[in-house]
Amino acid sequence: MDDAACVGVPTAAFFPAGEGGVPRSIDAEYAKGFCAGCPVKPQCLTHALTFREDYGVWGGLDEHERAELLRRARREAENQRRRERAKERAKAATAA
Ligand code: SF4
Repeated sequence: MDDAACVGVPTAAFFPAGEGGVPRSIDAEYAKGFCAGCPVKPQCLTHALTFREDYGVWGGLDEHERAELLRRARREAENQRRRERAKERAKAATAA
């Protein structure tokens, strides 16, 4: 990703762990500042979600935000499956 806004920025900035005594949240916001205008942000986030990157800021989201995004997607997929099963049951009941 040569076009990435973080080219040349130390990788450690995107894996905040309170390094140097800096509070973690401040580090994450610093990294997210680069992501905000990054032309490859969608691809970066897709990569992180696809390969389950557990740590760091990717595509403008930290690990907690990505985990929440995945939880919501799983919940929505489960709700969709339930709706489809209910629809199939209703269809079977009317056919019987
Ligand atoms: S979105 Fe990804 S590639 Fe772009 S600045 Fe952020 S971490 Fe780097």
